[in-house]
Amino acid sequence: MCFVQEKDYVGFATLPNQVHRKSVKKGFDFTLMVAGESGLGKSTLVNSLFLTDLHKDRKLLNAEERISQTVGITKHTVDIEEKGVKLKLTIVDTPGFGDAVNNTDCWRPITDYIEQQFEQYFRDESGLNRKNIQDNRVHCCLYFIPPFGHGLRPVDVEFMKALQDKVNVVPLISKADCLTPNEIRRLKDRVREEIDKFGIKVYQFPDCDSDEDEEAKQKDRELKESTPFAVIGSNMVVEARGQKVRGRFYPWGIVEVENQAHCDFVKLRTMLIRSHMHDLKDITSDCHYENYRGVNTFVCVCIRMYQGCVCVFGQESLEKSEGGDFKHLQTGLKHNQFESSFKHVSIGLIC
Ligand code: GDP
Repeated sequence: MCFVQEKDYVGFATLPNQVHRKSVKKGFDFTLMVAGESGLGKSTLVNSLFLTDLHKDRKLLNAEERISQTVGITKHTVDIEEKGVKLKLTIVDTPGFGDAVNNTDCWRPITDYIEQQFEQYFRDESGLNRKNIQDNRVHCCLYFIPPFGHGLRPVDVEFMKALQDKVNVVPLISKADCLTPNEIRRLKDRVREEIDKFGIKVYQFPDCDSDEDEEAKQKDRELKESTPFAVIGSNMVVEARGQKVRGRFYPWGIVEVENQAHCDFVKLRTMLIRSHMHDLKDITSDCHYENYRGVNTFVCVCIRMYQGCVCVFGQESLEKSEGGDFKHLQTGLKHNQFESSFKHVSIGLIC
């Protein structure tokens, strides 16, 4: 009997271990973008999240410089290692956003940046060295909402709407220590209502698996109810209740960044690192990147040719071989001039 069992044992039950070992060896990468007005605590929060000073060399701009500099996107990469697991973390900072009086289209450089990363990935994917692709696609964008208003400002609505189909947007209420618990609750309700009202698509936490235990389900419910997370950041270590903690020291007391009674920092960190990093990456790849491929880069056009066969063209190949004829083709297609547009294209490459 024992012999039969041994013979029948194929061993694929070890597959998860193999995947685990391979993934750990390869390491992980994650790209996080922070956006919002300068001065809302973006850099401080990122430093607090990853316990590393990512902005050592940062030059603080004065008001005039901030207004003249529309959006300067900076990228910081750090390699973090924890218990032998390596994480290459890239933070994309978008300082200066929303500072000017006229904020029309101020999100354009940010959306362009995200699309450039998709484009680069698409090129790499279609290239010869597909094995070692560096994934710089933005997996999550933390959008900072100021604590001072009565909800979302028009610029917040427009910004999030401009980004919603390109990246997972996670709205945050910044500097939550400026508000009382009641004010936080009211502001959260208001922001949630406005997100619904304006049809903003923010990152949706996936539903818990039905076979998860009750504790996990409860945590999942709490996580969803806490959105938008109200966060506090600090670069300082202070002493509270006999322990050294990250916090902000005030004449009336200490605000602790990691105290769940003070803010949702721990929930945000758990979500980003422990529970939802993979989902954020999957959605980036399966939804946002696929959207990009479908709509922008791989605009596939089916044209009925005179000869009666149907061809499918990729934008890239046509642009390369026809030097702009594809643009003409696209315009023609929009105006329903299939046949006349097609005459301008001598077929370069059929995908
Ligand atoms: P950024 O321009 O959005 O990156 O903002 P910074 O991280 O440079 O922070 C701007 C100022 O706000 C600094 O003086 C920080 O010490 C302060 N700050 C950052 N986070 C918080 C917070 O959670 N609460 C309060 N009250 N101040 C904060």
